[in-house]
Amino acid sequence: MAVTEELPKEEKRGISFVEQLVEKDLEEGKNNGRIQTRFPPEPNGYLHIGHAKAICMDFGIAEKYKGTCNLRFDDTNPSKENTEYVENILNDIEWLGFKWQNIYYASDYFEKLWEFAVWMIQKGHAYVDEQTAQEIADQKGTPTTPGTASPYRDRPVEENLRLFEQMNTPEAVEGSMVLRAKLDMGNPNMHFRDPIMYRIIHIPHHRTGTKWHAYPMYDFAHGQSDFFEGVTHSICTLEFVPHRPLYDKFVDFLLEKENDSNANYRPRQVEFNRLNLTYTVMSKRKLHALVDMHLVNGWDDPRMPTLCGMRRRGYSPQSIRNFIDSIGYTKFDALNDIALLESCVREDLNKRACRVSAVLDPVKLVITNYPKDLKEELVAVNNPENEQDGTHTITFSKNLWIERDDFMEEAPKKFFRMTPGKEVRLKNAYIVTCTGCTKDENGNIIEIQAEYDPTSKSGESGANRKVKGTLHWVSADDCQKAEVREYDRLFTVEDPSADERDFLDLLNKDSYIVRNNCYIENWAAEKQPGEYLQFQRIGYFMKDPDSVAEHLVFNKTVGLKDAWAKLNTK
Ligand code: ATP
Ligand code: MG
Repeated sequence: MAVTEELPKEEKRGISFVEQLVEKDLEEGKNNGRIQTRFPPEPNGYLHIGHAKAICMDFGIAEKYKGTCNLRFDDTNPSKENTEYVENILNDIEWLGFKWQNIYYASDYFEKLWEFAVWMIQKGHAYVDEQTAQEIADQKGTPTTPGTASPYRDRPVEENLRLFEQMNTPEAVEGSMVLRAKLDMGNPNMHFRDPIMYRIIHIPHHRTGTKWHAYPMYDFAHGQSDFFEGVTHSICTLEFVPHRPLYDKFVDFLLEKENDSNANYRPRQVEFNRLNLTYTVMSKRKLHALVDMHLVNGWDDPRMPTLCGMRRRGYSPQSIRNFIDSIGYTKFDALNDIALLESCVREDLNKRACRVSAVLDPVKLVITNYPKDLKEELVAVNNPENEQDGTHTITFSKNLWIERDDFMEEAPKKFFRMTPGKEVRLKNAYIVTCTGCTKDENGNIIEIQAEYDPTSKSGESGANRKVKGTLHWVSADDCQKAEVREYDRLFTVEDPSADERDFLDLLNKDSYIVRNNCYIENWAAEKQPGEYLQFQRIGYFMKDPDSVAEHLVFNKTVGLKDAWAKLNTK
C-alpha cells in the first residue's frame, strides 16, 4: 500500500513512529500541547486481538503523553449494530486493563452532522443524487481515468435541501437517493469523486430508535466526530491511508463553517499496520459467519481470536499486551506468527499460574507396600517462580493415577519414566520402584505396581539421591473427575485470508478435542474461571464457565512447550 507520509527526520530509536509524530507535534506547539485520542469500535461484533493492538496504541499514547483517550462507538449503520456488542466491548477493554475518560457515540452527533450537511448543500458543496447505486458506481471511473458527473450534480440548492429533508422521512425509499459531496470527479484519489455522505436506512437504531432515516457514511462521520470531541490524533489502520485527504478536506470545511480557520486546533489521522495472525481470520464478517453457522461455540469459543475467547481459554491480559509490545507498530502490513503470541502467554503464565496435578490419560498405579488405610498430606509449592504464592497440600495414598504414557513395559534406555526395575520420583512425594503391571485379556495395561521407599519422602534426606525422572500423579481416592478441552489452530493454512479457497473449507476439523476421563487433585477442582493453573508437566489450564460441581470442565490454554515447533524439527 502506498505510504504518503514521511516519518520525522530525526531518528529516535526505541519509540514507535506514532510516538515520534506525537512528540514532533508537541514540540511544534500544535493543539496547544494537548493530546487526545479515541478508540472507535463499531458495535457490530466482539473485539478481537487486532482491536487490542489499536486499544494499546490509542490508550498508550494518551497515557504516555498525559492526554486523554475516549471511547467512541462508531454507530452510524443501524443494520448491524446493537447494545449487546456495546456492553461486551466495554467489558473487554476493562479486562485488558484500560480505562477511558468518556464514552461517546457517533450517534450523539447526528444532529450536528445534519446541520453540517445542510451547510455543505447551502455552500454548493453537496447535492442529492437520485441515481441507483449501480449507476453511481458505473460513473466512478478508474484510478487512471476520470469519472463522469452525475446528471443531478448541478441541481439548485433549494431542490437539494428539499430532497435531503425528504431522505429523512419514513416514506423515503432505501436506495432511491443519496447525498454526495461535490468534490472532484477527476481526482486520482477515488475517494474524492463525489463521495456519498448520507444514505437512507429504515432499520431502527439501537440508541436513536426511529428518529432518523438518513444516516451519515463513515467518511462523513469519523473525522467530524473527532473534530467535535477535540481529538488531536485519530489513529487507525493502514487501509485508511487513501481516506486521509478526504478526512482533511472535511475538516477544512468544518473549520470554514465555524469560521475558525486560524484556530490552533485540527485533528490529524495517523495510520499503522493491522495485526494479522497466522492460522486465524480477523474480519468481523468471517467471525460472524463462524458463529452464525455454529462452526464454533459462540464468540467466546476458546479457538476464536476474540478477546472473550482468549479470556475463556486462559490467556492473561498482560500476555496479550506483551505480545502487542513485542510486534510493534509499523507502516507495512505483515502476518504475525501465532506461536509468538503463545510464547508470550507461556512466559506470563509461568509467573502467575498455580501448579497443580492433573492426569489427562489415566492408568492406575498401586504402591503395594504402602499401608492400605494410610493417607498423607504432602506439601506442594504453588508457584516456584513466586514464593509468596505459598503452598497447599496434596493427598498421597496407596492407589494413584498416573499418565498412561509415563509407563512402558519394555522401555528403551533413555526412557526415564516408569518401567519395571527402575526408580522414579513422584513429585512432592516418594521415590518408587516399578515392580510390574497387570493386563486385561486384550493385553491392555490396567494397573501398574510399584514399591515406595519410606525414607525418600520429599524434603527429607532420603530423597536426595539422584533419580532421573519425576512424574506427576493424583491420589485415586482423593481426586475429582474432570473434562478437559484441548484446542488446536482454527485453520489448516497459515494465511486463510490470502487463500483462494473459501475460508470455510480451510477450517481445521480437529481443532477441538474433548477428554472425558481426566482426574484432578481436589484443591485444583475448587479453582474458578479466571484463575490461572499449570497442570504440571502438561501445560496451562483454566476452569471453563461451563463447569459445575458435578461436572468439572477445564480448558487447555497452551502447552508447556510449543508442540508445533517440535513437530517441525522432527
Ligand atoms: P470491520 O471488519 O467491520 O471493518 P473493524 O475490524 O475495522 O471492523 P472496527 O470496530 O471498525 O472494526 O475497529 C475499531 C478500531 O480497531 C479501528 O480503529 C480499526 O482500525 C482497529 N482495528 C480493527 N482491526 C484491527 C487489526 N486487525 N489490527 C489493528 N487494529 C485494528
Ligand atoms: Mg472498521
